[in-house]
Amino acid sequence: MTKLTSVFFTLLIICGLQLNAKEGMWIPMLLKQLNESEMQSMGLELSAQDIYSINQSSLKDAIVKFGGGCTGEIISSQGLLLTNHHCGYGQIQSHSSLKNDYLQNGFWAMSKKEELPNPGLTATFIVRMEDVTQKVTHGAVDGVFGSEREKIMAENMIKIIADATKDNHYEAEIKAFYNGNKYYLIVKEIFKDVRLVGAPPSSIGKFGFDTDNWMWPRHTGDFSMFRIYADKNNKPAEYSKNNVPYEPKHHLPISMKGTKPDDFSMVFGFPARTESYLPQTAVQYTVEKLNPARISMRDLSLKVLAEEMDADRKVNIQYASKQSRISNAWKKWIGQNKGLINMDAVEKKGEFEKEFIRSAQNAGKADYAAIPQLYNELYADYSPLDFARSMLIEYYHYGPELFKFAAGFKALLQEDLNDEEKKELQERLREKTTAHFKDYNIHVDRKLFEILTPKYLADLESPEIPVELKNHLNSDRAGEQLYAQTLFADEAKLKAFLDDFSSEDKDALRNDPAILLASDITGTYTQTVKPAYDSLAAVIDSVNKEYMTAIMQLMSNKKQYYPDANFTLRLSYGKVEGYEPKDGMVYKHYTTIDGIMEKMDTATKEFDVPKKLVHLYKAKDYGRYADENGDLIVCFTASNHTSGGNSGSPAINGKGELVGLNFDRTWESTMSDIMYDPTICRNIMVDIRYVLFITDKFAGADHLIKEMTLAN
Ligand code: ASP
Repeated sequence: MTKLTSVFFTLLIICGLQLNAKEGMWIPMLLKQLNESEMQSMGLELSAQDIYSINQSSLKDAIVKFGGGCTGEIISSQGLLLTNHHCGYGQIQSHSSLKNDYLQNGFWAMSKKEELPNPGLTATFIVRMEDVTQKVTHGAVDGVFGSEREKIMAENMIKIIADATKDNHYEAEIKAFYNGNKYYLIVKEIFKDVRLVGAPPSSIGKFGFDTDNWMWPRHTGDFSMFRIYADKNNKPAEYSKNNVPYEPKHHLPISMKGTKPDDFSMVFGFPARTESYLPQTAVQYTVEKLNPARISMRDLSLKVLAEEMDADRKVNIQYASKQSRISNAWKKWIGQNKGLINMDAVEKKGEFEKEFIRSAQNAGKADYAAIPQLYNELYADYSPLDFARSMLIEYYHYGPELFKFAAGFKALLQEDLNDEEKKELQERLREKTTAHFKDYNIHVDRKLFEILTPKYLADLESPEIPVELKNHLNSDRAGEQLYAQTLFADEAKLKAFLDDFSSEDKDALRNDPAILLASDITGTYTQTVKPAYDSLAAVIDSVNKEYMTAIMQLMSNKKQYYPDANFTLRLSYGKVEGYEPKDGMVYKHYTTIDGIMEKMDTATKEFDVPKKLVHLYKAKDYGRYADENGDLIVCFTASNHTSGGNSGSPAINGKGELVGLNFDRTWESTMSDIMYDPTICRNIMVDIRYVLFITDKFAGADHLIKEMTLAN
């Protein structure tokens, strides 16, 4: 261990003296130093090596990053993968049509032959992690921020990655941790043939829909199953009929015993993003300005989607996945704001900063003491830019699809393509067109345009406003004209244009109203916001780095500090427990199938229950999946610090067995990405026995249960 590294971790360990057991997302390769003894005192029967090792198989070999935003775990020796229903939702939706409505009816492959391929879907294992801070910063002078330093570091990184991936089939990346105080190399094995095996109907996998999302008590069977396929040498390969089920180094045994209060519990997965060290000014901006604006933008789009999806089952299937994406964050931000306001987060950050300044002054560190004020000054300029950027994301990426889709065709305007490249591009765009229109309805998109555009323009300050978009909106029947005149709202018209495309058509493409407006929207942002945003963001990054170092030096008696989540493999641990959300209320840590029947309302899509589940309930036909009292447990809560990206993560007991599948947090926990309160923040998991019950008794897919290792 280098001197720098050892000083850094000594600091972490000193910081850990007054340990807050439940907060934190820990780095697997550092568990031995930082967490092992505490975890064992809480009930872990394994060693840190059993969880993460690069020399022997360990729990980490059963954990994958699932696609681009979730976690999954391997639950059989034949590469069977478990994740959430909401993580597999895009794939389930893409295989669904009015004829094969897997969203509504569920899907179960009764043999491997029936498993469905998913082009583009990946499952990523972590081969190893390594601290490469010294190598990355070699020759880059600390304290000097700017392009020269960045350039040296970027060159160093390229070399480290090249070395790590030489003579093997791995991929690698380097990520910054502790706000840039540490750099870790992550070597990955990425599988590209991942097939859909099974999913319950949405009335189980999404039971409670938006009403229950982010809520407790919860009764959602939020799971789906996939299988990883490999080539004959068990290595990653593109999809092929000849691929075979992947043989993992480790798969999680499944506990049939369930959990009880105070049991040790850990969640192993890929939390995407937390912002635990934001300064007061940033939290205030988020609560007062950013969240309200993006919530009201999404209020509008969700209203349109609800009307259109309720009116037409085809539209419902087409927009199911898009609606979920919009509503998931929308509801989280509402809860996050409530929680942050309830706990006086802004004031708390202010008190922390006062204490920080006092500690810095006592330690004679004037530069540290100046950081909070520096943040105030920086954010005064940065927040409006961040706001304009966030509104662009809301409008351009989550609003009407027309502009972003049209902009993708600007590639045809390139001058220097040879005939073959042109043909390839046309083919790619043709495929993109087919995929896009499968899930597109011009009427819905036009309504989104009409309702969101005035709001978007009203949210921007004058130089940020795209002028052509504004002028267009002034004309009568703006939406009607735009959608009638553009090529990009009509599949047949666009395909005919693409097929006959020649250089004479470039002007028509250039002057298409959707292309013109797309360029206006993104171009105005690029000119008026992006340069200042990028340079201020870089300065803030450098202050964040110093602030993190300073907090760990000055406030070491407070708690143990963990690096913010950055979509890398982390372990959170805590206990199975309920909580008291409000004065006079106590939440139990588990729910049962009885609660599904209490919530059942067949008149609504949200709380409809499949008849077969009602029959099984009436007959109390729970098989070996009931608990010792004969109850069928559905979900449970624990104090594991999780975030988005932890969706689909395994909940593992002290013996290393799978007890549940993490899928959500409670309403009071929606603030935990910014401020975690161990007394009320809880993650929500489906009990693994409910997953098996649905797979076996409800879906009749007991061949899958036979693949698994059931522990007793
Ligand atoms: N349900 C959450 C999500 O979809 C998971 C979490 O954030 O706890 O992002």
